[in-house]
Amino acid sequence: MKAAVVEACHRLAAEGLLIGTSGNVSVRDGDQVLVTASGAVLGWITEDDVVTADDPRATSEVALHLAVYEAYDAGAVVHTHAPVSTAASAVLDEVPVIHYQQLLLGGEIRVAPYATFGTPELAANVKAALDGRAAALMANHGSVAHGATLHKAVENALLLEWLCTVYRDALTFGQPRTLSPDEQEQVIRAAIERNYGSESS
Ligand SMILES: [Zn+2]
Repeated sequence: MKAAVVEACHRLAAEGLLIGTSGNVSVRDGDQVLVTASGAVLGWITEDDVVTADDPRATSEVALHLAVYEAYDAGAVVHTHAPVSTAASAVLDEVPVIHYQQLLLGGEIRVAPYATFGTPELAANVKAALDGRAAALMANHGSVAHGATLHKAVENALLLEWLCTVYRDALTFGQPRTLSPDEQEQVIRAAIERNYGSESS
């Protein structure tokens, strides 16, 4: 499990989502949670920097990770300061659905109200913003994504950064069209029929 966390961090850093020591990754391992250590450069992280949630070296955002596990059926959680997601978090109240792939994250992406990093208040705000969603933005801070597996949580974090990038670029052309509730419903129906979003697609 520690090796999988290391691999996830390296991938997210290579994709530009984890910059320096910012951001953190966790995974549920039986009845405990493994998290990245505070101050670790995530692109170079080793298994020594993956610790249990109660370890004093655990990331300062450990409360945020634990809040997600407590509230949702998550197997892994990824928190980043990815550049476009973070920029969006400083301006938007939500990311509207302008692309059908966003429905893999559950719909409109909420922006959790700002609170100081590492506080129970921030953890509570993020937990609320994730209701029915696999990802959220954190106002003036960054992004959070979860998934049933570490792989899925990483994919969801990457998808959110891509969606924020597409939305930003769409805004440079003009006012983007959003998918109506009916169009979203039809996407979900088509996805169920084709098993879209499974590991193979
Ligand atoms: Zn952070």
